[in-house]
Amino acid sequence: MISVVTPVYNEEAVLPEFYRRLTAVLKAIGEPYEIILVNDGSKDSSISIMKDLCGRDACVKVVSLSRNFGHQIAISAGLDYATGDFVAIMDSDLQDPPEVLPSFFKKCAEGYEVVYAIRMNRKEWVLKKVAYSVFYRLLKKMANIDIPLDSGDFCVLSRRALDTLLSMPEKNRFLRGLRGWIGLAQTGLEYDRDKRSAGEVKYTLTKLMKLALDGFISFSY
Ligand code: UDP
Ligand code: MG
Repeated sequence: MISVVTPVYNEEAVLPEFYRRLTAVLKAIGEPYEIILVNDGSKDSSISIMKDLCGRDACVKVVSLSRNFGHQIAISAGLDYATGDFVAIMDSDLQDPPEVLPSFFKKCAEGYEVVYAIRMNRKEWVLKKVAYSVFYRLLKKMANIDIPLDSGDFCVLSRRALDTLLSMPEKNRFLRGLRGWIGLAQTGLEYDRDKRSAGEVKYTLTKLMKLALDGFISFSY
């Protein structure tokens, strides 16, 4: 059984296409699956699209948060409900292409408990690319654990890795750091990060700064 957990914040412009592409990939894999869409307090029509998908497709489950809590908390909430033997975490704006998932699951079949995605090409504006690059390299210097460079939250976890992650009491979760901290057999796979398929970016500068701070505070010695 495969679970896919996806945070959604005002993504009405991409949700139908995300669902279509992800479902095509999961059907082709041929294992039972569930798609857990986490509504992070969207103010557009995302929630009605999600409810509609849930009504039409028994594989779709919806977790709806009472307000906007942010990406990391939305993912954590979704992970609490995931029942799969393997759980994928991915964004809903199609920057994480669903088509690469089969290669992730192949690595799991080889025995890896954590397979994380390494971003090769970011199709972002230059300043943002530089900021990301500096952040990850600085964190690597300051962190007392091995946080892989340029890997975001896009990954597949085994049930054991997920249960370990969920047993941790952190509230301000920097998931990509905790994921490294738990140990187990881990490997990275490179992929080209696509452009956001539609709609505006939802990670504001303030939210990004908070994420970076959580990373530094939680993992630097
Ligand atoms: N997101 C969320 N809550 C937020 C901000 C973003 O659930 O407060 C979701 C958003 O819908 C998307 C993912 O997190 O699926 C990443 O957000 P975005 O694409 O805006 O950021 P970036 O690609 O720059 O990381
Ligand atoms: Mg994005």
